[in-house]
Amino acid sequence: MRVILLGPPGSGKGTQAQYIMERFEIPQISTGDMLRKSVADNTPLGNQVKIIMESGALVPDDIIIKLVQDRIKQPDCTKGFLLDGFPRTVKQAEALTLAGVQMDRVIELAVPDDVIVERLSGRRIHPASGRVYHVKFQPPTREDHDDVTGDPLILREDDKEETVRRRLLVYHTQTQPLVGYYTSLAIKNVQGLPKVTKINGTEGPLVVCDLIFSFLS
Ligand code: AMP
Repeated sequence: MRVILLGPPGSGKGTQAQYIMERFEIPQISTGDMLRKSVADNTPLGNQVKIIMESGALVPDDIIIKLVQDRIKQPDCTKGFLLDGFPRTVKQAEALTLAGVQMDRVIELAVPDDVIVERLSGRRIHPASGRVYHVKFQPPTREDHDDVTGDPLILREDDKEETVRRRLLVYHTQTQPLVGYYTSLAIKNVQGLPKVTKINGTEGPLVVCDLIFSFLS
């Protein structure tokens, strides 16, 4: 099973990716996580992309395409994989198609912009452990401090409202056209082309998960 999970930042892709990964026993390939790890590890790639990521813009297509092509050659991808955060542009999608990588399903998680802004700009992180809080939906006991260690929490640079709005604009202009790209491939109904669906991502995570599983089964 080869799946693409599309959706704006904060639409719950990461959460759903975990469910899909466990249920279908396929690895999640999150380009955002891969890039963040490179930044944290101070690799040459990390240093190249850090400022771009903080600004909310997209990393150049050729860098990302190479990263994903190398990753899907790994042995754990033979049974399939879940692409989370890739492709992000039509050029990236075309590169996959041209490389002969046939996808089975494309899921678009739809969430309105205002809901996204509230979800992301309220998020607070404990950098050392990765624990995530939300000022409204999951506040820490002591405002802006981690429950376990008492360390100060941070607002991730790319979760700041201004950056979130810029990321949403990037999503609408560069990534959403992919739905049309895959739909037009799919309606040709040639064997080997992906089935495409849109799922309401404002429902609770388990409801969204059920909808996704029925589409994938
Ligand atoms: P994410 O966690 O998926 O929202 O990704 C965080 C950031 O990493 C994005 O805002 C981009 O700067 C960069 N990024 C992740 N995936 C891609 C991609 N497929 N193409 C270009 N940039 C990406």
